[in-house]
Amino acid sequence: MLYVVATPIGNLSDMSFRAIETLKNVDIILAEDTRQTKKLLSYYEITEKVVWSYHARSPQSSTDSIVEYLKNGKTMALVSDAGTPAISDPGVKLVADVKKNGLQVSPIPGPSAFISALSASGFPSNRFEFLGFLPHKKGRQTLLKMIAEQTHTMIFYESTHRIEKCVDQMNEFFPEKKICLARELTKIYEEFLIGTPAEIQKIFLEFPEKKKGEFVVLVA
Ligand code: SAM
Repeated sequence: MLYVVATPIGNLSDMSFRAIETLKNVDIILAEDTRQTKKLLSYYEITEKVVWSYHARSPQSSTDSIVEYLKNGKTMALVSDAGTPAISDPGVKLVADVKKNGLQVSPIPGPSAFISALSASGFPSNRFEFLGFLPHKKGRQTLLKMIAEQTHTMIFYESTHRIEKCVDQMNEFFPEKKICLARELTKIYEEFLIGTPAEIQKIFLEFPEKKKGEFVVLVA
């Protein structure tokens, strides 16, 4: 059995009981970054676990050996650095390969940044689209044009380095739309910046520190 275990997106207390139990009980934990995961394990006093590295650049040979171990009856838990694995994080290919081999995969649900952002944004959630990270260069403008045309809530991830430029671009492509930047969710400086792109530009000008941190972007 492979468990896909969601972990906190900032606040370490956001682990479910079942997630903790699962990490305690599996034979092997597959971690995007073993150092990051060891911090979480030590917070929950989960000691002496076998932790293997599994990340975006892991070769097919490591997927193959994971499948072999699972075939031999070992239990494993896949975790990423934060949030739900396989959501803009490693795991999609591994889960597909494990299932292709007729082995079971079970989710241990928990935090995901975009669902947390949507749930507290006040933006319509009856219909929404999640785009992951926007491409940096090729295809970015096409996607922004596509977002401009939508009538349902659009959600994407943006890095701290690009957030200011991203707001400038949103001002160019859809100046009249209401946007929400969900910043530093579950952490000390958590906040929701809501307004037109021009209004957010003004906030950034006045409070440059608000450009820092992790962001989920929602477009109404
Ligand atoms: N698998 C994760 C999930 O389920 O949300 C997403 C991982 S993705 C590599 C990381 C991106 O998620 C960040 O660049 C940011 O856009 C968003 N993110 C993660 N944690 C966040 C937080 N605490 N507040 C706001 N956005 C966050």
